[in-house]
Amino acid sequence: MSKQQNILIIGAGLCGSLLALRLGQRGFNVSVYEMRPDLRKVDISAGRSINLAFSNRGNKAMKLVGLEDKVKSLCIPMHGRMIHDEHGNTFQSNYSGRDHEYINSISRGDLNALLLNEAETHKNVNIYFNKKCKSVNFEKTTALFQDYETKDEFVEDADIIIATDGAGSTLRKSYYLGKKFLFSFSQEYLTHGYKELSILPKENGGFKVHKNVLHIWPRGSFMLIALPNLDGSFTVTLFLSYDEGEYNFNNLTTEERVLEFFRKEFPDALALMPNLVEDFFENPTAPLGTVKCSPWHYKGNTLLMGDAAHAIVPFYGQGMNASFEDVVVFDNVLDQHEGNWETVFREYEKTRKIDTDAIADLAIDNFHEMKDHVANPIFQEKRKLEMA
Ligand code: FAD
Repeated sequence: MSKQQNILIIGAGLCGSLLALRLGQRGFNVSVYEMRPDLRKVDISAGRSINLAFSNRGNKAMKLVGLEDKVKSLCIPMHGRMIHDEHGNTFQSNYSGRDHEYINSISRGDLNALLLNEAETHKNVNIYFNKKCKSVNFEKTTALFQDYETKDEFVEDADIIIATDGAGSTLRKSYYLGKKFLFSFSQEYLTHGYKELSILPKENGGFKVHKNVLHIWPRGSFMLIALPNLDGSFTVTLFLSYDEGEYNFNNLTTEERVLEFFRKEFPDALALMPNLVEDFFENPTAPLGTVKCSPWHYKGNTLLMGDAAHAIVPFYGQGMNASFEDVVVFDNVLDQHEGNWETVFREYEKTRKIDTDAIADLAIDNFHEMKDHVANPIFQEKRKLEMA
């Protein structure tokens, strides 16, 4: 396998930009096609998990590409969960008894921009924006794109194509619709969706509530969480059923209903959110689902990676971290089998899928724990014993 080989990556999100950087560092010719505009020039983050929990798993990938220090400057450590009960009482449940063990809150946009910048420092990496992949011919290793601005369609070929185009992956659809090989695929939605809201900074720029924790307002069948941002704001996410319970996304249709819901369930959060109603009606409600599929690759031609291969619900805060870990595992497999893409792809999937299936299931379990058990007195007693 010569390093002059051309690798085409579909999607310049978190996984695609990290993969482009790593393959660029390894000396491959890398072309990345992203359907959205360049997020370093246009603000396109609204309504889509503005910040994320970034853990040691993801940090190992940053170490691999030499970005640990730069990423650290984007992080806010969160040492545990701050639970807010319905009476406004709070208690902190630390993730560990040790100070150096924590997770971080990080801005999706800042992290993605850093990875794109670093990838573009390599002359052998080129990133093209506003180019939407419409389908992939995995037998010929070609992809059909449409330019958003000119509407022109064009076909690109490469030695291999890797799709990091997220939960709605075009390559995955092409595998499924192509019916050329036995492709297993499942997509399961939760009954709950999510909506992003915000707590703005204090006027002097400070944080309105404790900064170094992940805030949770668990209420049994629904919950609110908040993660801090560097500017003093918090990104708040409401997880709620679409159609079950007294309050759900389908019946929160008026300003009065939304305020009534928050006054009853989250009065302390409401006091921090004077812009609640605007946020609620301006920001989209989005579904949450798990995607599993196999095989991830077609011969030595094409491969799925990141959410395209294994989208999970966000309750373990591990989707991005797992997608970053994909790149680390792929890199290790390349060290062993470089020269034969089919072996690389097969060994990569064999090594990786067992773990991504496990985190997918754990993430659903943690949904039930976060919205319910963390507020349960038995859980609180158990945590106290664990911490003693
Ligand atoms: P994406 O980030 O979805 O990137 C895919 C890219 O491909 C995008 O840039 C997209 O525009 C582009 N694209 C899509 N289709 C095409 C096409 N046809 N042609 C060209 N380009 C295309 N993970 C964590 O680790 N921690 C968290 O705290 C966390 N919180 C989350 C909260 C919420 C509410 C949600 C929904 C997810 C959360 N995640 C979290 C999961 C995380 O967002 C994903 O796992 C991660 O974004 C996956 O990265 P990716 O690059 O594989 O996919």
